[in-house]
Amino acid sequence: MDILNAKIESIPRVSQKYAEILKKINVTTVGDFLFHFPFRYEDYSERIEIDSLIGGQTATIMGEISKSKLVRTWKKKMMITECYIADETGSVRAVWFNQPYVSDSLTVGKGVRLAGKVLEDKNGFYFSNPAWELSSREPTNTGRLVPVYSETEGLTSKWIRWQMQNIFKLDLEIPDPIPTEILTELHLPSIKTALQYIHFPQNETQYLLAQKRFAFQNMLTVQLASLKVKANWEKESSVKIPFQEKTIQKFTASLPFTLTNAQRKASFEILKDLEKARPMNRLLNGDVGSGKTIVAALASLQTAQAGLQTALMAPTEVLARQHFESISKLFANYNISVGLLTNAYQIVASNQPASLADGSSVISNQKIKKNNHQSPITDYQLLVTKHSQFKRTELLEKIKSGNIDILIGTHALIQKDIRFRKLALVIIDEQHRFGVGQRAFLQQQIETINDGLPGKIPHLLTMTATPIPRTLTMAYFGNLDLSLLDEMPVGRLPIVTKIIPPNKRPEVYDFVRSQVADGRQVFIIFPLVEESEKLVELKAATAEHERLSRDIFPELSLGLLHGKLKAKEKEQVMADYKNKKYDILVATSVVEVGIDIPNATVIIIEDAERFGLSQLHQFRGRVGRSQQQSYCFLLTGSHTIKAKSRLGALEKTNSGFEIAEADLKMRGPGEFLGLRQSGLPDIAMEHLGNVKLIEISRQKALALLKNSPSLSKYPLLKKELKKFATNVHLE
Ligand code: ADP
Ligand code: MG
Repeated sequence: MDILNAKIESIPRVSQKYAEILKKINVTTVGDFLFHFPFRYEDYSERIEIDSLIGGQTATIMGEISKSKLVRTWKKKMMITECYIADETGSVRAVWFNQPYVSDSLTVGKGVRLAGKVLEDKNGFYFSNPAWELSSREPTNTGRLVPVYSETEGLTSKWIRWQMQNIFKLDLEIPDPIPTEILTELHLPSIKTALQYIHFPQNETQYLLAQKRFAFQNMLTVQLASLKVKANWEKESSVKIPFQEKTIQKFTASLPFTLTNAQRKASFEILKDLEKARPMNRLLNGDVGSGKTIVAALASLQTAQAGLQTALMAPTEVLARQHFESISKLFANYNISVGLLTNAYQIVASNQPASLADGSSVISNQKIKKNNHQSPITDYQLLVTKHSQFKRTELLEKIKSGNIDILIGTHALIQKDIRFRKLALVIIDEQHRFGVGQRAFLQQQIETINDGLPGKIPHLLTMTATPIPRTLTMAYFGNLDLSLLDEMPVGRLPIVTKIIPPNKRPEVYDFVRSQVADGRQVFIIFPLVEESEKLVELKAATAEHERLSRDIFPELSLGLLHGKLKAKEKEQVMADYKNKKYDILVATSVVEVGIDIPNATVIIIEDAERFGLSQLHQFRGRVGRSQQQSYCFLLTGSHTIKAKSRLGALEKTNSGFEIAEADLKMRGPGEFLGLRQSGLPDIAMEHLGNVKLIEISRQKALALLKNSPSLSKYPLLKKELKKFATNVHLE
């Protein structure tokens, strides 16, 4: 019988009641139970003689019960068991609160092992609610390295230890999914030994070795999964998009700046990929401000020149709108039509007469002028006025008939029933926080999208908003080709970053006044942490906006941007800010996503210690987008050294890659990439920083697949993979 898949209640001493409780922690089979690993160990391995006890230490003692009584305290209505345990060297007191059954077992003369922290009161040393077991029993809860499991109501570590012991007594056959040769080569224990080591370690070396084995097993599965995804993707075919050297050269020459070497290299890699019949699946990994948009624009230019369509997706409406503005500006002199499709917008850039001739409604210049009677009309506004608005159905029709070359929008672009005529390239400007699962869904969608090209799938380019450290890309994005933008455009001054304690606030406010006097603009961020805090946070931001306007900067004008505004309202606030209607923009974390206001040179982040480094780095990236020196002030309420040393990383470096590494080390990949919900076991996550382990897993995964592409020679591994695929999704 396949014991690992047997229901947990088939184990003799597991009652239906416990089966129900175990279900709550996702344990339904014997296998699940065995893989419910301890998250730490208490070292009760050393027995200490009673006269050698030291207050505050954690210790195991052994002896005989010399006195035992059950007392009821009337005042507090509590039952207290009080025992004295004696060995050859002395005796010590132990008390248990509200566990009257303890006194039934611990009667005078019984031999007992007892473990816990040594406390002290006026009567000397004592133990409070210590773990205990009779000496006649084998050591489970005392006298060894005691595993501590995550518990739930009605389920204690003690119970789990007892059941583990019962199960191990059954001496089960546990088949090993990893081939023996690999285990031997890597000096890793078999699955059965490793399970023994992890639940009943005799020393630290044993459980560490077991953890290493399971981490390897997980990483091997991750690598197999990602290599399979890659192989599947490569089986598909795409339209070849010819490299248009002249067009590309002419376009780059027309830019007001020269491309960085990193941009050049990444663009070349992408344009070369597009030439192939094999669909591209590439990650453009670059820091904030490293210039990813232009690289994406080059790819879509080449695509449009071949008469094919591009879809560009952004994580928010504001960002989609911003991409739309910059891309349509970039292609203003080209015969390329750019559309924007989101819930709030259905518009087309009317750079060319063809779109205007459609009889579409054009937003009137007059109306916009009226709204902003005082501010001069800028480039940005002129562009807005030139766009044509459409009904949704009209725009869909244009996409379907191929009248739109580049369609920009939110993720809804490919999730809705939208038909393209010739969609050959999909670009996702991605927030890392979208999470692994959502990306997997997107990739599936892309494969099935109605691209108007039967038998073909679009090329795929994903862009990260936060640099992803090397180990993580290797571990999690092994199925993607990688282009790095690890170089900033020249002439950018590094942003000066300072941690500001509460008493230095006035100086920062003075600095803000002087920058505004110089014509610069300022962000003040009241960051939003949790979705559920939205309302509270909104109140806080609104109140702060009021306070700052009234008490601190009465002479300046302050705008307010928060998540509860409708897309068009946000758009308006941003446009007004860009047009310098406001000196200061008070915002919640809405601004985190790549908003581009080159004239803003100061960003102040309140409660900075509440944020991850990568997120703070994202905020900081809102400034430093021009030739002007920019500043980032991290306001903290706390003086703790920990918060300071953590934030110190931001003071020290402007490199997003270095910050990401530091962030990964401090918070772990779960938080960093939003993998916490990915279903990946903690043990695998803890080892994500282990480059060697990842490399070796990948190497072994490649070898296994080479030997047996469908893994039919490794049926157990194949099963692992299937299980994994239902829990975790890779791109
Ligand atoms: P991100 O990688 O964060 O998406 P963007 O593409 O928004 O960065 O670029 C940030 C800013 O830098 C934009 O204003 C863009 O026009 C400008 N930029 C991009 N490439 C260069 C370059 N090679 N030299 C100077 N400025 C550049
Ligand atoms: Mg960007």
